[in-house]
Amino acid sequence: MSNNPAACRYCPHERREHMQRWTKGVGWHQWTQPTQEQIKTRMLARHAAGGTR
Ligand SMILES: [Zn+2]
Repeated sequence: MSNNPAACRYCPHERREHMQRWTKGVGWHQWTQPTQEQIKTRMLARHAAGGTR
């Protein structure tokens, strides 16, 4: 699970290091913009995980 808002929609890799990747359930794909919902969820998760102490 990734809480990086810049990570791919289908896997935890960022665009600059992505290239073509194979992910279970998705297959070969290029970096795809996450949905607004995913970005929001990731940012909230990151905040909850890191910001409180
Ligand atoms: Zn990906």
